[in-house]
Amino acid sequence: MLTRLLRILTPFALWPALVHAQATGIDTPEAGSVEEIAQATTEPRFLSPWVSYLPASATVVSPRAFLHRIPGAPGELVDSSAAYAYSRALAASSPRVKLFTIGKSEEGRDIMLLAIADEAGIQQLDKLKAITASLADPRKTDAAAAEQLIASGRPVYYFNAALHSDETGSTETVLEMAYRLAVSEQPQIRRIRENLVVLINPVSNPDGRDKQVEWFYRYLKGKTVLEQLPRQAPPYWSKYAFVDINRDAHQQVHETTKAVYHMFFDWHPIAVHDLHESEALLLTWNGTGPVNEHIDPLSYSERLELSFHEVQTLTGMGMPGVWTWNFGDDFAHLFLDSIGLNHNAMGRGYETYGNGTAETLTHTLGAEETTVDWYRPVAPPTGSFRWSARDNLNYMETAALAALDRVAQEPKTLLKNFYLKGLHSYQAGLNEAPYGFLIPDDQGDPTRVSQLVARLLSLGIEVHRATAPVTLKDGTYPVGTYVVRLDQPYRNYAVDLLTPSFFAKDAGEPYDDVSWELPAHYHLQAIPTADPQVRAASLTQLTAAPHPTGVVSGSGPVYVLKDTGQEGLLEARYQLAHFKVSVAERSFNMGGADYPAGSWILPAQAGLEKAIHDTAGQLGLNFVAVGAAPDVASHAAPVPRLGVWVPWADTDTIGWLRYSLDQRHIPYIYVRDEDIRAGKLHDKYDVILYGHVDLELAEQIQGIPKAWGPMAFKKTKATPASTRTGRARRRRWLRLSVTELVEHDR
Ligand SMILES: [Zn+2]
Repeated sequence: MLTRLLRILTPFALWPALVHAQATGIDTPEAGSVEEIAQATTEPRFLSPWVSYLPASATVVSPRAFLHRIPGAPGELVDSSAAYAYSRALAASSPRVKLFTIGKSEEGRDIMLLAIADEAGIQQLDKLKAITASLADPRKTDAAAAEQLIASGRPVYYFNAALHSDETGSTETVLEMAYRLAVSEQPQIRRIRENLVVLINPVSNPDGRDKQVEWFYRYLKGKTVLEQLPRQAPPYWSKYAFVDINRDAHQQVHETTKAVYHMFFDWHPIAVHDLHESEALLLTWNGTGPVNEHIDPLSYSERLELSFHEVQTLTGMGMPGVWTWNFGDDFAHLFLDSIGLNHNAMGRGYETYGNGTAETLTHTLGAEETTVDWYRPVAPPTGSFRWSARDNLNYMETAALAALDRVAQEPKTLLKNFYLKGLHSYQAGLNEAPYGFLIPDDQGDPTRVSQLVARLLSLGIEVHRATAPVTLKDGTYPVGTYVVRLDQPYRNYAVDLLTPSFFAKDAGEPYDDVSWELPAHYHLQAIPTADPQVRAASLTQLTAAPHPTGVVSGSGPVYVLKDTGQEGLLEARYQLAHFKVSVAERSFNMGGADYPAGSWILPAQAGLEKAIHDTAGQLGLNFVAVGAAPDVASHAAPVPRLGVWVPWADTDTIGWLRYSLDQRHIPYIYVRDEDIRAGKLHDKYDVILYGHVDLELAEQIQGIPKAWGPMAFKKTKATPASTRTGRARRRRWLRLSVTELVEHDR
């Protein structure tokens, strides 16, 4: 209240000194930092006392000293190498900071993680990690043991920055916060250091960060009129992804996602907190429902409590426009933060008001963005207002500190909740049907079965394999059947993935996808059992994903391959590109076995025998060698010339398409809008793949508007990260405009 009164009563010119006087407490501000932060903040109400200065340190290098500017300075952005260079300098100069590498991006950049705690915490990180790992597995940790572990353990809290590359403020925010957490002697910061381990991933998608930073300096720097800005993001952020990089929790396509999984299973944080920028002025995520029944109710209530604490704290400081709730439903947990939610931790997120650009712009919000409601007690500004990169940072860092402060006040409760959530999930698997899922190996394609099993394993779900026939009251299954026993800590996630997803019919339009039922997606059956005796079956636990290899049986110069919709068929055709392949036009019987229409017949050809053995081994396909081709009508199936049409204005689904082809080593021809316009397509391509695009039909036909002239997305000396994607390396110019700025939230 005092702070707010001071703000109201104090003329702007006097305000920084006053805030400093009542805010820095026992910290000494780094000389110049108060003034620079105040100057970079457009209005006093957009700043909190907590982040109005940088604490001075005689020994630890500050981001301002390192970068020669404050984080969030107008018109500047750090790229991944500068962010990592500062992270190294911070870790080297502070005994309260340690730096780890948790992954490598598609383009070879490190993905790094800062761990921050007091000196004692940093010295015993391994012990603290062992404690959270034990709490995550209630099979090994009974209630008494848990109590002891909780007494000597600490919650780990993880922040993820820069997932969406055109949301540029989070990297600068977390670098400053890391420094503040390491050096400030304010009581609340000390309590965070002493009671928690804070993890920070400053650049979770470094490929995208570097492309975006180059884009900013090349096309956006110095431009300060919002309505006249060119497109604010390059067409790709990482090799395959644009916005959809945040739809990857179940699939783990992107190295960014894999790195966060690596972090999660190593540290077992109580929260995975992802920092985004799309709502004014700060929204802390909570959905309106329906919620997903497979997430522990404790997670939903913990999240709400933390969110209201953030709303309350910033509102109390006089910062307008802080809110929660009313952001999508809460049903699909396929986002990066969902790695936490799906594994008995919290998944959290902010949307702050950020930009692709780091320049200060004038904004006007819509009527629906400025309402006052129970979940938004003080509206964002009505009318136009100026908003800077530092304003964005002020909000994000203040809220993040509020969240940490709250967790640090109740560390034991949150650790206990973390244990309880695992216990609830495990007990549900012990005490209620289904008690397990059986995934028969013989479902037409062992490769597809192994892919499903590999997916489950990578998500932390344990899978066994039957070493003897499994006889249950609801079915009998042969040796080799895969079994997902549900008496495991991630039982809830396994059930979520292996059963149909039911989104209430009357719940309106869902925020996102509503099916991640893996058996349906893989065209397989995972059969639930109501018989708890599945736990007594003779099983061995898988420690690695299975890799089925195909076999070649029979003898003779002609080869036949049954078509049962195997995953490897398309790749096999390209692998056997130099050989003739015919496909049967009708089903036939050969040697007592039925072959459906579409089955392959390879006539005798030089070099075929070795090629068939290689293909069978690599792709899990079973060929039969015979003396003569079967008596059935067939036609030649030449290798198709495949074109992939890449419309640059909307690249997400094309990225997935390229990913799928690259995974299967299938070559394709890169098709531009100009190639389509030139016509005579049949001369060059047999098949053209065109992904879903969100453009209007007219935009698809006319191409990208030319208002901003050519915007090169091209590797140059000044833009080394702007690596072209796709196979072709033709010179290419983009024409993009403000009309196709990408609309997305999280
Ligand atoms: Zn985002």
